[in-house]
Amino acid sequence: MWSERQIAMLAEMGIRVWSPHADAPLDEVHTPPAAPRQAGGGAAVAALDVPAREPRARLGGVASMDWPALREAVAACRACKLCEGRTQTVFGVGNERAQWMVVGEAPGEQEDLKGEPFVGKAGQLLDNMLRALGLTRGEADAQHQVFIANTLKCRPPRNRNPEPEELAQCEPFLIRQIELVQPKIILAMGRFAVQSLLKSGEPIGRLRGRVHQYQGVPLVVTYHPAYLLRNPQDKARAWEDLCLAASVVTSS
Ligand code: URA
Repeated sequence: MWSERQIAMLAEMGIRVWSPHADAPLDEVHTPPAAPRQAGGGAAVAALDVPAREPRARLGGVASMDWPALREAVAACRACKLCEGRTQTVFGVGNERAQWMVVGEAPGEQEDLKGEPFVGKAGQLLDNMLRALGLTRGEADAQHQVFIANTLKCRPPRNRNPEPEELAQCEPFLIRQIELVQPKIILAMGRFAVQSLLKSGEPIGRLRGRVHQYQGVPLVVTYHPAYLLRNPQDKARAWEDLCLAASVVTSS
C-alpha cells in the first residue's frame, strides 16, 4: 500500500488516483500494460538517425579514467561545436555509487548556467517522481541518492535536439559514468537517452514497460519529464515505469 508521502507525491505529479486498481497490491501495479503505445514521447522515429556506432576513439583514454579525471576531461572537452556556446559543462550530480542512474537528454538554459542537470521545471517534476520512491539527488546513501547524467554535457543552442555527431562525441563520457557508478538500474528518459544507450529509434511507447539491458545493467525506458509536463496524461505511465525500475532494484 502507498504511504502518505507517496500519495502526496503522486498528487503533486498530477496523478489523480494513479491506478484504477488503487486497492490492488503493489506487485500488480508494478506490471505496466504490455500494449505498445506511440503517443507523444515516441514520435518521429523515421526522422531519427540512429547509427549502430561504436563510441569514438576514447577521447584520450576516457575508458580508464577515474572520477576526477573524467570530470576534468568533460570540463575541458572541445570535441564538438557545442563547446563554443556553453557557459559550462554539466557533468552530472549524485552519488558516485548510486543504485539508480537517471539519464536525460542535454542541459537546457538553466542547467548550463548552474552546471547541474535537471534544475528547471522538468527537473522539479523528476525530483518529485524520485521522491515518491524515496529517492533524491541530494546527499544520501547509495541506496537512496540517485546519479543523474545527460547524454550531452553541453547545452545545444536554443535547446535544439542533439545532433548524431554530438551524441557520438559525448557518448564515451556517459559510458564511463555508467561504468564507474555501476548502478542496479538505469532509467533512460526520453528518446535521446534511449537512442544513445539502446541504439534504438523506436518510440518510447514501444520500449517502455519492459526491462532492457545496457552492458549487463537493467535499463527501463520512460518518458522525458519535459514531455510529461506537456502531456500530463502520460504521467501515470511514467509512474508505472518507475515502479518497474524499483521492482528491478528490489529483486536484485
Ligand atoms: N532536460 C534534460 O534532459 N536534461 C537536463 O539536464 C535538463 C532538461
